[in-house]
Amino acid sequence: MSRGSVLVVGGGIGGLATSIALRAAGYDVRVVEIHEDLRSSVYGVGIIQPVNALRALDAIGCAQACLAVGYSTVAWGKMLDVDGNLVRETPGATIPGSDLPPMNGLTRPQLHKILTDRAAETGVRIEYSKTFTDLRDTGTAVEVDFTDGTSGVVDIVVGADGVYSKVRPYVLAEDLQPRYIGQSAFRLNIPREPEIDRIILQKGPEGMAGFVPIGPDTAYLFYNTTWDRDVWLEQDRMDKILRDCLAPFGGLTARVRDKYINDPSAIVFRPEEWLIAPAPWHHGRIVLIGDAVHAVTPHLGQGAAQAIEDGVVLAECLTHETGIEAAFRRYTERRYERCKLIVESSVAIGEWEMNPAAHPDFDHAARTQRVLESMIQPI
Ligand SMILES: Cc1cc2nc3c(=O)[nH]c(=O)nc-3n(C[C@H](O)[C@H](O)[C@H](O)COP(=O)(O)OP(=O)(O)OC[C@H]3O[C@@H](n4cnc5c(N)ncnc54)[C@H](O)[C@@H]3O)c2cc1C
Repeated sequence: MSRGSVLVVGGGIGGLATSIALRAAGYDVRVVEIHEDLRSSVYGVGIIQPVNALRALDAIGCAQACLAVGYSTVAWGKMLDVDGNLVRETPGATIPGSDLPPMNGLTRPQLHKILTDRAAETGVRIEYSKTFTDLRDTGTAVEVDFTDGTSGVVDIVVGADGVYSKVRPYVLAEDLQPRYIGQSAFRLNIPREPEIDRIILQKGPEGMAGFVPIGPDTAYLFYNTTWDRDVWLEQDRMDKILRDCLAPFGGLTARVRDKYINDPSAIVFRPEEWLIAPAPWHHGRIVLIGDAVHAVTPHLGQGAAQAIEDGVVLAECLTHETGIEAAFRRYTERRYERCKLIVESSVAIGEWEMNPAAHPDFDHAARTQRVLESMIQPI
């Protein structure tokens, strides 16, 4: 027997993971995704999956598929100086009693396909090119009007529609908007050089270059740098601009720059934004998950991990608590401090990257290791 009906708004990483978890908990689940198909809803290049992301994916039956297509590392990463000399190693963390690796990397389309296939297999209905125009919480249900002129009634609405969430105003009293940290990142898939067997960071004078293995033969390069948000970049000059940014580097970054940065259309450039919504993350029968309530800059590779954990915890709370109000309250209680730690630690790393002189005591590797160790605690 069904426990009730759920509408998930947003078929991104968090929305799909939540749908699978809620379906396993016995709900009828329907997802509306504003983009026209699986492919067009994916942005960016690769995704870092720290061990806590893998644990949450394991809970919804997706971890092994991610490990099978991705690249698992034996340690988290290391930091090099601008010339390519080793500065520090970061071992990362593993979960006692589990054989999940400290980190797995894969491409975003691969992750979306795994989550979408699993959602379909478990009976989640996904509708593309569709969203809502209005939500009305009657106290006993939520009435929903859709963009295609149809309407419906569900027991619960989950807002999983990302950092510019349209569901958020139905939940929060204040008009919360993401804040630009002051950095933007270039990203580009490249062939995996053998030494890219974990996350490799290389600190330059104006920004942080980095490499992430995302498959046996594939890695991605990123370059995080201070950027005036109003400075527009033309896509057809992206390769030249990125090569110029990486000019001061030696070692791995220089080799990759000279060998692989030649196709401007393959480079993704994104601003880095963050927000943390005040608790609680629900109002009545409408609840928020993922970037809609805790968008995070990519410095710790934890944004997607937190969105997936949200979905697992939300389903557990709906299963174990009596009533929707108690379940949603418990969900925020279990999630808030953990997500806040990730958002604040990521912003702290970004601020240090932009202005190390202002943070002379900041230890990037130690901070990363501390957060990774706290992330293996039970959720
Ligand atoms: C450049 C970059 C690199 C990153 N790298 C990593 C990483 O390596 N590891 C990691 O863990 N995290 C990473 N993150 C963060 C991670 O991508 C996000 O935290 C994660 O995707 C959040 O999932 P979400 O489902 O909440 O939101 P999203 O992934 O943004 O998904 C929201 C979905 O909702 C849809 N949508 C939006 N509005 C509507 C609407 N009105 N109606 C219906 N659908 C709607 C969107 O099309 C989208 O499919 C990175 C982020 C960026 C920007």
